[in-house]
Amino acid sequence: MNISAIHSRFFYDKAPVQNTGYNPQHPAINKFLLKLHSQPAMDTVSFKRAPSSQGTPFVHDPRELDLHCGCCGKLMLKNSVVQKFMDDKVYFPAYIALDRIKYEQNFKLREQPLAMQRAYSFIKNEANKHKDMNMDELLQTEKVANYRRNNSRAQYKAIGELRDRCRVVTHNIDYLVDEIDKLNPDFQNTEAAVFQELKMHARLNPTNSIKNILTKPEIREYYLVKLQKKQNAKLKKITPLIQQLSPQYARRANNALEQSYRIFNNESSDIMHKRQRVIDLFARALAPMPFETSTDRPVADLIMKRLESLPDSKNDANAFIVKYGPRGSNKFVEVLVKRLRNTKEHVKPQHREGDNGESDKKNYIYLCGKCNHERKTQKYDEFIEKHPQMPQNTQNQIDEICDFINQGILDDYDTWPNDIREPLGEESEGLIIIDTNKLNLEQARKNRAERLAAFVEEQKRAVETPDTLMTGPYRRHGKKK
Ligand SMILES: [Zn+2]
Repeated sequence: MNISAIHSRFFYDKAPVQNTGYNPQHPAINKFLLKLHSQPAMDTVSFKRAPSSQGTPFVHDPRELDLHCGCCGKLMLKNSVVQKFMDDKVYFPAYIALDRIKYEQNFKLREQPLAMQRAYSFIKNEANKHKDMNMDELLQTEKVANYRRNNSRAQYKAIGELRDRCRVVTHNIDYLVDEIDKLNPDFQNTEAAVFQELKMHARLNPTNSIKNILTKPEIREYYLVKLQKKQNAKLKKITPLIQQLSPQYARRANNALEQSYRIFNNESSDIMHKRQRVIDLFARALAPMPFETSTDRPVADLIMKRLESLPDSKNDANAFIVKYGPRGSNKFVEVLVKRLRNTKEHVKPQHREGDNGESDKKNYIYLCGKCNHERKTQKYDEFIEKHPQMPQNTQNQIDEICDFINQGILDDYDTWPNDIREPLGEESEGLIIIDTNKLNLEQARKNRAERLAAFVEEQKRAVETPDTLMTGPYRRHGKKK
């Protein structure tokens, strides 16, 4: 099938054209794909779909409300909005993606092993039957799942490879920038700066892909040089501190410093985790120091603190672009958008040794993906040193949620504001003491009853005029089940 035929069948009006600069002969593509998906996910935050509110007039999960992050205060994206964005706007429908891999990745079916040929023809056939599904969705259907289970290991793997190939089939940069813009993202500074760069490239080079643009040698070099400048400037600030150390430690620290300059300036830009290696070098150099007695200790602590401010993909747009540019356009967009999604934050952390917090709503507040990931298992009093606005923003979130309860929108959360008070206070050593005065359960019960009555009324009308049942936003998902 030729490209224009695919185009004419494609239902987005801004269908991308083939990238002329794309090098389809990618000898290491399998290796690359394998690497791409075996890498640990950027976020350790779980990203399960929130339960659907379909069929009830209430919302049962605060991740499905318009809330501001309890830490940074940014407006978060609803869980389902991010999922739908990735499914519908970023990934291609499977039947198109399966065609596009043929020319984007020079995938020649006739040259493939028999297992792959069979897998391809089966999955292509299924894809044609479900034109609204992308590969991930298609693989979740019973028929495909059964097929994978009941056929050879080689075919099982072949379908997995096809899914991975389809994941990197990408839209043009101008289309993706446009779609992100439509989400009205309330980005933090670093992500906002990354998005500004994408917009600039989209103006200059609208029909190319994010990956192709950001991996062009001259463009990659541009961001790399900016990143190195910052890294060198941060290292330079450590020199006067090293001079304050006693000679034996000064010698060790100077060695670490020299090696750090080499890591940042001489090593290939493709090598990962440079920042962490630099921090580790200094940690090792300064480790043997006796803890209480040494006058070197405070200086060493200051050095480690300065190193923490070395640029990384979370605090620096250049570092973000250098890190995620080569990982593919879809991954790039995913990381950017998922940092704004509404996630459950375990107030008492889930994985603190010997003292696991419960996975229960009595232990949740709601943070954006970025803040949630950053907190890990830190105590809040420690975390708040870096995020002094958190107590106020947590209070704002409690007020917002109380408001949703009062309006009768959020159900099953009547006791939550008071349940969460104690864990918040404990975890923050008294720095987050919330007040729940906004909660008005009498009003909530009244509004809920009204909502329910209106909903029942609407259902009755829908039954009387059955045409309206099959239209509207739920049609697509309803059909799948
Ligand atoms: Zn946040």
